[in-house]
Amino acid sequence: MDAAFYQNLADRALSDGVPTDAELEKLLADPAVELLPLLNAAYAVRRAHFGKTVQVHILNNAQNGRCPEDCAYCTQAKTSEAGIEPYAMKPAEEVLAEAERAYKAGAHRYCMVFSGRGPSDKRTEQLAGLVREVKRRFPSLEVCVSAGLLDDEKAEVLADAGLDRLNHNLNTSRQRYGEICTTHTYDDRVNTLRAAQKAGLSTCSGLIVGMGEPPEEVVELALSLRELGAASIPVNFLLPFEGNVLQPPAPDAPNALTPEYCLRVLCVFRLACPRAEVRCAAGREFHLRLMEAMCLYPANSLFLDGYLNGRGAERRRTYRMIRDAGFEIVSDHNLDGLLDEVPADTDPSTVAPLTIDGQNTAIKSIEQLRPARPAEPVAK
Ligand code: SF4
Repeated sequence: MDAAFYQNLADRALSDGVPTDAELEKLLADPAVELLPLLNAAYAVRRAHFGKTVQVHILNNAQNGRCPEDCAYCTQAKTSEAGIEPYAMKPAEEVLAEAERAYKAGAHRYCMVFSGRGPSDKRTEQLAGLVREVKRRFPSLEVCVSAGLLDDEKAEVLADAGLDRLNHNLNTSRQRYGEICTTHTYDDRVNTLRAAQKAGLSTCSGLIVGMGEPPEEVVELALSLRELGAASIPVNFLLPFEGNVLQPPAPDAPNALTPEYCLRVLCVFRLACPRAEVRCAAGREFHLRLMEAMCLYPANSLFLDGYLNGRGAERRRTYRMIRDAGFEIVSDHNLDGLLDEVPADTDPSTVAPLTIDGQNTAIKSIEQLRPARPAEPVAK
């Protein structure tokens, strides 16, 4: 492809033009489209809307496992034997203590995630109370909740409490949905996003790449999320949790999640959804390997401290990567102290799983999941 091809891609995205399915598929599947000029085109769009800033998000796995749903990619599903440590909803003080830690660690947004199909009326009120309290204590911290399926009324209760954003991922294409989950449908998910938008909430919705979908389905999802107006798009790459029903393609499979393919996917999302916050989410360390920092050219957002049950890079390593690549973290805090202390990359307790063989080491320990857990009362 000549320089005009890449220039045209960037120019169209900069003027909010909609690329065609065929054009986007080419970016994923045609070897004549070269990675570096493609990243450069995506970067021109990212820079126009976000400059060199990076938003870091910290997830709080506020209720883990015991989910009656059967999402084949999820360690919390009833069908998974990944061996996570389940727990009921964390007490409010624990969630608030973790919000404070996230705020002080420079998080732009704090995401509270609750396993399960969806909250009851009572649970929705509890979530609303938590949102109110986090906003009262840390007014500049953006708050996001992911709590499963919601109807119009529940979305409104959360919006009235001051919630900024609701996360609900589409995960995969409409036609593939029945293969990865039988207990709810793609349309259930779309309806939750619509309920959130009706209540005035900003929406975060993304996908998991590596569940058997061909490039055209990745493109279909990018265009669907554009049409749905997702303000934030987490692009996850399926992690190999031993015991999960679904595993990513083998490294030597034709559809393997190579670093190059993952970067192409991120470019597709930046060019299809130019103004969205595109997040290089789960699997960043594992699948992008030595190309990890390149994700910052199409994406403007990352998770810090790993994922729901999956370990990720230690936070100082992520900060260092952002700084070394010449990007800036959006934060209320001065992070210089943290940036100066960088752990040795060989310490297995601080570095993400970087090898294909290390599958079981990818699961977070209970200490990582509950860093602010109140001490158990001493038996008398
Ligand atoms: S509904 Fe959510 S927590 Fe439950 S199995 Fe599906 S993704 Fe996992």
